[in-house]
Amino acid sequence: MSTISNGSLHLLAVPPVPERRERLRDEPVAGDKRVLLAAPRGYCAGVDRAVVAVEKALERYGSPVYVRKQIVHNVHVVSTLEKKGAIFVDEVGEVPRGSHLVFSAHGVSPAVVQGAADRDLQAIDATCPLVTKVHREATRFSRDDFHILLIGHEGHEEVEGTMGHAPERTTLVNSPDDVDTIDVPETERLVWLSQTTLSVDETMETVRRLRERFPHLQDPPSDDICYATQNRQVAVRKIAEGADLVIVVGSANSSNSVRLVEVALEYGAKAAYRVDYASEIRQEWLDGASTVGVTSGASVPEVLVQQVIDDLADAGYGDVKQVVTAEEDLMFSLPKELRRDLNGNQDSRGLGGRTRKLDWQTQ
Ligand code: SF4
Repeated sequence: MSTISNGSLHLLAVPPVPERRERLRDEPVAGDKRVLLAAPRGYCAGVDRAVVAVEKALERYGSPVYVRKQIVHNVHVVSTLEKKGAIFVDEVGEVPRGSHLVFSAHGVSPAVVQGAADRDLQAIDATCPLVTKVHREATRFSRDDFHILLIGHEGHEEVEGTMGHAPERTTLVNSPDDVDTIDVPETERLVWLSQTTLSVDETMETVRRLRERFPHLQDPPSDDICYATQNRQVAVRKIAEGADLVIVVGSANSSNSVRLVEVALEYGAKAAYRVDYASEIRQEWLDGASTVGVTSGASVPEVLVQQVIDDLADAGYGDVKQVVTAEEDLMFSLPKELRRDLNGNQDSRGLGGRTRKLDWQTQ
C-alpha cells in the first residue's frame, strides 16, 4: 500500500471502493447452482479486539487517534475507521508528540515501542495476543542462546515485529526453497518459529527441509500458526473439494486471505479468486460454474461476505449451504491501556472462549 503526503504526515492511502458493475446475469450451467459457504470465516479474536480498540480509543479520547500501519489488513476496515477519525501512518516519527497511537494487530518491535515513548506518545498496544506469544518465544530463545529460524514472509509487518525481538539471533526463511541457501551460524541451539498466518502445509514442508539440513533443530513449544488461520484453511479445503470456483473475500496484503486462495486451488477448486468487494466478481468467472465456494480472511467483516452472497443470488446461486468445520467463540480482552482509561465503562465483552473442531457438517 502506498503512502501519500499531507504536510508533515505520510498517510497510508486506501484504495477507493470499486464502482458497482452491472448485476451478475443468471446464465444456464450444467447441474444445479449452489453456494458452499465456509465456516469458520472472517473476523478472528485478534482482529475483533484491534478494531474495537481503535473504536473505543476514538470514543474515549476523541479524534484524531493515530494508528501505526493498517490496524488489520483490510481495505474496508481501514477506510471505515478513517471516516470515524483514525489517522493511519507508517511510522511513529510522523505522529505529533503527546498524541494517542495504536499499534496494529500485527505487532511491533521493541524499537518501535521505544520510538513512541521517546515522542511521549500515549501508546495503545493492539498486538494480537497470539503474536505477542511468538514475540515472547523469540525473546526467551534469544536469551537462552538459541538461534531462531523464523518462517515467514519478508517485509510483512508481523515478521518485522518478531525479528525486532531478537534481531541478532534470527534468520528469516521465506519458503521451502530458501532452506538450502540461508546462512545460519554454527550452533547446536537452533529452533524454528513462524508467522501466525502461513499455509500449514507449506510451513510443515519448510520444517521438514530445515530438519533435513539441521537434524538438531528444535520445535517451538506450541503452534505459532494461529487457531484462526488453521481453522479457515481446514474450512476452505472442505468447500474447495467440490467447487468449480472459490471466491475469497480479503485484501491483497492480507496474508491469511491470500493463503486461502492458494489452499483452495491446492485442494481441488477449479478456479479461485480473491476480492475486496463483491463488485469485483466478474461474470466470466461464473461461466459453467455450478458450485461456488465462498469464504473470507480473518480480517474481513461479515457484511462484505453477505454482499458476495447477494450478488451471487442475482446470478441464480440462491441455494446457500454453510459447511462448518469448527466452532469458535474466542475473545480477547481490550489492550490494558484502554481498560485502564475506560474505568467505569468496562470492556463488557466475554473473555476466553474456545474453538471446537468438527468433523464437518452442513447447515
Ligand atoms: S489471524 Fe491469528 S494471529 Fe492474526 S490477529 Fe487473528 S488470531 Fe491473531
